[in-house]
Amino acid sequence: MNLSLISFLKTLITFEGNSIFGDIMALRELGENLYLYPGSPSTMIKVYGEKAILVDPGNGSGRHKDLRREIRKLNCEIEALLATHGHADHIAVAPKLKKPLFMHRYEFSIAESPLNREILTFGSKAPKGFLVYQFPYEIKVHAIFEWNDELFGLKAIKLDGHSPGMTGFFDRENGVLYAADSFFGERLIKAVGIPYLIDPELFKASIVELINYAEQQILLIPSHGPMVKEEKAINLLEFNLKRVEEAEKKILELLKKPRSISELSYHLIMEFGAKMTPEILALNQVSIRALIAELYNKGLIKAEIKEDLKWKLKKD
Ligand SMILES: [Zn+2]
Repeated sequence: MNLSLISFLKTLITFEGNSIFGDIMALRELGENLYLYPGSPSTMIKVYGEKAILVDPGNGSGRHKDLRREIRKLNCEIEALLATHGHADHIAVAPKLKKPLFMHRYEFSIAESPLNREILTFGSKAPKGFLVYQFPYEIKVHAIFEWNDELFGLKAIKLDGHSPGMTGFFDRENGVLYAADSFFGERLIKAVGIPYLIDPELFKASIVELINYAEQQILLIPSHGPMVKEEKAINLLEFNLKRVEEAEKKILELLKKPRSISELSYHLIMEFGAKMTPEILALNQVSIRALIAELYNKGLIKAEIKEDLKWKLKKD
């Protein structure tokens, strides 16, 4: 059976979620006044004073009701929503919660426009079903923040590379960093081949930053996958880093012959043994274009026209 990217990824994510959450829809206590509500993405809840701050409210038709119910159990009201970045799956329920949404300066216009969200993820308007999550309406962002700002007891950490203003939220008191899509679970990477990124240098620098946190025994929470700490965290981060470096090496090897971006996407899925679907082939082209830009800017490859735009290793 040819699973679509959406159902395929959901299967994976649910599997990984189950393996750590046990009861999949129970609120999990991360520390003092800090909770995680499972999902894809999972939502971090910080109780600040008598109020609840939600990090990445997520998506799904009933999620806003589920979140409200869980917050009521904490005897709180929702005060504000913080988003790590503007990808549709992280913010879709924000308007239904009717609370101020905070986002990094580089992300707010991406979040607000349905077309901008597709451009960031796909490179242009996207065919229906080709993105993990799409919805056609606008999202109103009410306030912007900068990296290193303190918001409701959480510090905004620069973790860009997956998107331009990707932000982690660090709870210093509890030693917890919600790291969103700055790294991924091993299963997800193995399924798609390459971690989704729009700038490999920034993505790798963010992983190195996360390794620093992991070395200080900080609990790291990815949006799609199990939370990790200490050795497990370092191993997973190194797996993410290695996968990007391997993709760069494989691209250079493949470019001994002139090849187009779509040919590279096909060959990388073959080489990594990832799932071959039109959706994954198309989405990986975004990360591959970013990798090609990096290799070109380093002077390692050149552009050629051979019945298509092709890229080729420079000989000198
Ligand atoms: Zn994302």
